Amino acid sequence: SLASREWHKKDSVVNIAPGISVGGGNVLIIAGPCAVEGKEQIVKTAQSVKRSGALALRGGAYKPRTNPYTFQGLGIEGLALLAEAKKISGLPIVTEIMTPEDIDFMLPHTDILQVGSRNMQNFSLLKALGKVDKPVLLKRGMMATIDEWLQAAEYIMAGGNFNVILCERGIRSFEKRTRNTLDLNAVPLVKSLSHLPVIVDPSHGTGKSELVPSMSLAALAAGADGLIVEVHPNPEEAVSDGDQSLDLEEFDKLMKSIKRLLSVM
Ligand code: PEP
Ligand code: MN
Repeated sequence: SLASREWHKKDSVVNIAPGISVGGGNVLIIAGPCAVEGKEQIVKTAQSVKRSGALALRGGAYKPRTNPYTFQGLGIEGLALLAEAKKISGLPIVTEIMTPEDIDFMLPHTDILQVGSRNMQNFSLLKALGKVDKPVLLKRGMMATIDEWLQAAEYIMAGGNFNVILCERGIRSFEKRTRNTLDLNAVPLVKSLSHLPVIVDPSHGTGKSELVPSMSLAALAAGADGLIVEVHPNPEEAVSDGDQSLDLEEFDKLMKSIKRLLSVM
């Protein structure tokens, strides 16, 4: 299969923007809020995480919320705010796509299209993204095995888009103390099975901001090609995922530890 190491021996390098790529020794740190909430929030976060050393900005404009009566994202307005944050900070944008119908109008607004955990096996979305000429960040389904996850990547690649970045974000287990069980086994295992870059989301993987720095460093030590970390200027007021979001200062501190770790690896 196209995602397998047998088919392609060398690590794939996915290009994100001029001078920014992931895989083959290139580590991509993505940071930003769970959801775009307003201009000040996203621009302030973008400028701060850029200063700390992040290479891309995340922010959801379309949110796949479990409860339909909670905030669903700012939609088109959120995409426009991401574009402004990109212009001011220079950071490329990562944002979630939920349906094939949104591809055409979302493409100019994003550098990486994120497929969320809940959509990992949305096969019509995966097939449509196979026809797109932009990187896709494919999160592991919260109940997906490693083989199911790799087959989801195969759906995108079979359509001709080889720019797939895999993201481990935790799976459901009997453990209730954490939001999910971050499966760091998956990092070296998937890297042995596949040539695709593998990054880790320690925010959804733990659900607790105090665990995020340790699990970020552990992920990189395990060989992850990058991280996607939720960062909010005021996590207590975040409309979604505040409990697992680092504030700007905590992220800056984490970046300092990351740089130290990478320098000795
Ligand atoms: C997110 O990145 O905010 C998100 C909804 O993640 P996941 O799909 O991993 O739950
Ligand atoms: Mn989130």
